[in-house]
Amino acid sequence: LKKIGVYTSGGDAPGMNPAIRAAVRTALSQKVEVVGILNGYVGMIENRMITLQMRDMANIIQRGGTILKTGRSAEFMKPEYRATAANNLKAQGIDGLICIGGDGSFRGAQLLGAEHKIPIIGIPGTIDNDVYGTDDTIGFDTAVNTALQAIDKIRDTADSHDRIFIVEVMGRNSGWIASHVGLAGGAEEILTAENIISVDKIVENLKNSRARGKTSSIIITAEGQKPGRAYDLSDAIRKKSGLDAKVCILGHQQRGGTPSAHDRILASRLANAAVEALLAGRNNTMIGVQADKLVEIPLDLVTSKEKPGDKTLIHLARLLSI
Ligand code: ATP
Repeated sequence: LKKIGVYTSGGDAPGMNPAIRAAVRTALSQKVEVVGILNGYVGMIENRMITLQMRDMANIIQRGGTILKTGRSAEFMKPEYRATAANNLKAQGIDGLICIGGDGSFRGAQLLGAEHKIPIIGIPGTIDNDVYGTDDTIGFDTAVNTALQAIDKIRDTADSHDRIFIVEVMGRNSGWIASHVGLAGGAEEILTAENIISVDKIVENLKNSRARGKTSSIIITAEGQKPGRAYDLSDAIRKKSGLDAKVCILGHQQRGGTPSAHDRILASRLANAAVEALLAGRNNTMIGVQADKLVEIPLDLVTSKEKPGDKTLIHLARLLSI
């Protein structure tokens, strides 16, 4: 390979910049040129690409977001736009791709690779940690810590006022952020798509904890498919029990901020290995991490399987919040 393209796609995640840095510097040090594709598939279709040099990677390791910008493209779902993107890549002389994103981005990468014979290696970058085949994704650790800082502050006021708080964290279907933040933040209940608890049960648990002498409680909900459901839950608790539960929706602050050391290290390891794999002639795989070892998983497996959530953390949080 002579020239590779690197892009970030889907939701931005802290640690994407250290991943770009590691990919670019690994490739350049092996005399392979690197082009940065701007705004993911949007820039691929619109032919917005920039040459990346060693020094362009200076001082980005600590920055949140992605210097290449990211994007979502409905057009890329259509074969004709993927053909346009492939023509743009070929015109630039790009003969391999590194895709940093979530499973949606990998689905697009697979189609592009299959239809236009472009080798692609994926790197899991999403705060949701919902990518099959890897224990961890770039940005997850930072997002958990950001949410945790907010929850620690909320605990102060919950405790001072003897209040119940419902805190809604990000996370689409799987609730990984919720289970980690819930355990680390000492929550009493953690509600995710995989751990649905009835309002009756929540009220019963709250009353029981009050009877045991607890004066404040934190309930974590994952936003799921319907952001804002924390308000519905608060209303339902009030109607059932008269208990007043305050709501705090953490929202987009969880996406931003300087990446944690963990995410920078993960990003550097994954991106270095991804470029090595691409240059070694491998294709259509994702570099992930399992039991702290780097692994390479076929993209069709990654995109066809759901990663189950970790219910053991939810049970442990319940046990320890007694
Ligand atoms: P995150 O989980 O962090 O949001 P993601 O990569 O899963 O990241 P998506 O919005 O699902 O984010 O996907 C990013 C982009 O990938 C989409 O906007 C679209 O351009 C492309 N994409 C997703 N699914 C497909 C598909 N089935 N076919 C072609 N392209 C796709």
